Amino acid sequence: MAAARFALLITPAESTDEERADFSDSFRRIDPSAPALSVGELSTQRGDGIFESIGVVDGHAQEIGPHLQRLAHSALLCDLPEPHLEQWRQAAAIAAAECGPGEWVIKLILSRGVEHGPAPTAWVTASPAADFTDARTRGVRVVTLDRGVDSDAPARAPWLLLGAKTLSYAVNMAAIREAVRRGADDAVFVSTDGILLEAPTASVVLRLGDRFVSPEPGAGILQGTTQVSLFDHLRAQGHSASYERLPVAALAAADAAWLLSSVRLAAPITAVDGLAKPIDAELTASLNRYLLSPRD
Ligand code: PLP
Repeated sequence: MAAARFALLITPAESTDEERADFSDSFRRIDPSAPALSVGELSTQRGDGIFESIGVVDGHAQEIGPHLQRLAHSALLCDLPEPHLEQWRQAAAIAAAECGPGEWVIKLILSRGVEHGPAPTAWVTASPAADFTDARTRGVRVVTLDRGVDSDAPARAPWLLLGAKTLSYAVNMAAIREAVRRGADDAVFVSTDGILLEAPTASVVLRLGDRFVSPEPGAGILQGTTQVSLFDHLRAQGHSASYERLPVAALAAADAAWLLSSVRLAAPITAVDGLAKPIDAELTASLNRYLLSPRD
């Protein structure tokens, strides 16, 4: 992703304020390359906050509703004040209007704010997306990596925030670096009891014969907006698409597999732990055509 070209600071509204229809006076456009946050920011000191990355295609912000719902869900899991979704929708629309043609990324960020400060800090940015043509057509090699938690951990230890999209992505980035050290492009996390989970920045979808399957969201993974959207599309086309508790071996054994996320979209998996996997170029191209079409 390129540097942000647009940034908007938001004074978060109370979620209970249902009367208000126009939030323009709660937004302040700022220079995206100038300093803007206090050094006491808990987002930078502790990664204590949540975010959403939304793909924008030719000015259309994709799946804005599901992204806002997930922002609210992450806020709930993190004991952050409930976001006023109409306010965030308006902020995202302003950011989308700043995106040029082609593919862009809008980020919605809600931080716990400044230590001992009165309120959360919130902002939105817009940046041109990186070029993911290679990942979408030539695919990605993955290695499976132990996440160090068992599949019961999300229920037993909700403070691990496994289903929230928090700003604490240092571990996810470390996993990608480890994957690169092992000669791959990306990682797929596996629970200590051998259950397939997700990639550090993407969901996993497998094709098993004529069925499409993805690991159950309850297993402590982020419910991917792209995967949900793709499953709706596949079902509308008469395919079976469902969630399953999948053993790690299912990934290598699958007829085809993809990493799915809002900006890279569908990246076919071409190798698992060094074992080559055939890619279905035609099907992948059709999935990406759908994912690039305007989606709400
Ligand atoms: N899982 C993780 C850990 C992610 O970080 C992401 C996206 O960043 C996803 C899954 C895919 O989510 P989405 O399709 O909403 O981008």
